[in-house]
Amino acid sequence: YSELQQFDPEIADVLVDELERIRGGLQLIASENMSSPSVITALGSTLTNKYAEGYPGRRYYGGCEVVDVAENLAIERCKALFDADHANVQPHSGASANQAVYGAFMKPGETLLAMALPMGGHLTHGTKVSFSGKWFDAVHYGVDKETENIDYDEVERLAKEHRPKVICAGGSAIPRLIDFEFFRNLADEVGAIFWVDAAHFIGLVAGKAIPSPVPYADVVTFTTHKVLRGPRSGALVCREEHAKALDKAVFPMMQGGPQMHTVAAKAVNFKECASPEYADYAKQVIANAQQLATSLGDKGIRPTTGGTDTHLSLHDLQGIGVTGAEAEERADAAGIVLNKNAIPFDPQKPNVASGIRVGAPCVTTQGMGTEEMKTIAELIHTAITEGDGTREHPAAVKVRGEVTDLVTRFPAYPHSAQV
Ligand code: PLP
Repeated sequence: YSELQQFDPEIADVLVDELERIRGGLQLIASENMSSPSVITALGSTLTNKYAEGYPGRRYYGGCEVVDVAENLAIERCKALFDADHANVQPHSGASANQAVYGAFMKPGETLLAMALPMGGHLTHGTKVSFSGKWFDAVHYGVDKETENIDYDEVERLAKEHRPKVICAGGSAIPRLIDFEFFRNLADEVGAIFWVDAAHFIGLVAGKAIPSPVPYADVVTFTTHKVLRGPRSGALVCREEHAKALDKAVFPMMQGGPQMHTVAAKAVNFKECASPEYADYAKQVIANAQQLATSLGDKGIRPTTGGTDTHLSLHDLQGIGVTGAEAEERADAAGIVLNKNAIPFDPQKPNVASGIRVGAPCVTTQGMGTEEMKTIAELIHTAITEGDGTREHPAAVKVRGEVTDLVTRFPAYPHSAQV
C-alpha cells in the first residue's frame, strides 16, 4: 500500500475512502457482502499476470503449472461443496456464467422461459436491453397477485404453450424458496433444459441453510460475491452430461483467458464455505433477514409475500406514502445503504419504484444478530418517514449517530488497517 500511496495517491485515497465508507454505515444491499482478508489477498496477487486460456493440463500457454494448482483446487472444492458432478470456475461474473448457458444450449431465435425482471428476475434472463433478450425469444412468467410468490400455474401454462428450449428459475428479488422439483418435472415434461440462476441464494445453499437446486437442475450458475462472500466473480456447476458443452461455452465461446487471481480467490472462498462457522453464518443471515422483515412490517413497511425464507426481503412502501427512490435517498443520508426496488405489479417506473430491497449478508458478516435487526428496522423507519434526503435533517443526524454506535460495536474488517 505504501508504494501505491507514493505513486498514485489519488487511487490510494479511493481505497481508504471506500474502506471508511463501508465501516461508517450500515450496508443492507442484498447482493453485497464483505469478503475476507484471505480472499482479498488472493485477489491482489501476482496471479493476475498469468495467461491461462484453456483448462488445467490443457492450456494454450506455457508456465501454467502453478495456476493449474489453484484452478484444480477451486474446481474440487466447488464440486465437494455443492455435491456436483462438474464445476467450471472460470466465468468472470454472474452474467458471463449465464452467457455460457445460452452458448451451450440455445441458438439465436430459440425460446427461453424465465421470470420477468420487474417480478424479481434478472436482466440476463431475456430482458430486451440485454443480449439475452436481443438474441433469444424470451417468454416471461411472474408472481401470483395474492401470494406475490412465483405463479406456478402460469409457469406451467407458458411452458406447455411455448415449449422453451431452456427454463430458468432464480432472480434478484425473490424472498421465498423456489420449488425446484416442480421446475424439474415440468422441464422433463416439455423436453427443456432446467437452469437455476442461484446467484443470490447460493451462499445459503453452501451453508446448508436452504435446500440445494443441484440435484434437480441441469445447470446451476451463480455469482461468488453475494451471500457466498467470495471475490466478485461467477461459476457454474452441472450434470456430467453437460460438462463438455458448458466448458466449451465458457471458453472459447464466451471468454478468453481466465482471471487466475480471481480463480484462486474462489478456491479460498470455497474452503471458507466448508467450515462450521460458515454454516452458522448462513443460518444467521436468514434469521436476521426474517427479523428485519418482521420488524419493518410491524412499522407498516410491508414485506411482500409476508416475509422471507432467505437473505433478503422486499418491502412495499405505498402504505407509508414514500417512493422507493425517496426511501433510498433518505436512508443514504442517514448512513444506511439500501436500494429502491420494483415490487410485483409496481405502478411506478423502475427508477422511482414503490419498494426497497433489504439484505442481511453484510450486517451478519459483521456479527450482528436479531436484536440489532430490530434496532436497524427502527432506524430505517425513522430515516425514511421523517428524513428529507439531506444529511442535515435532524432525523438523518439522529439516525447517523445511532448507526455509528452500531458499527462501532460491530466493525467491518476489524483487524485490517487497509484492505
Ligand atoms: N443473476 C442474478 C440472479 C443476479 O442477481 C446477478 C447480479 O446481480 C447476476 C446474475 C449477474 O451477476 P454479475 O453482476 O456478476 O454479472
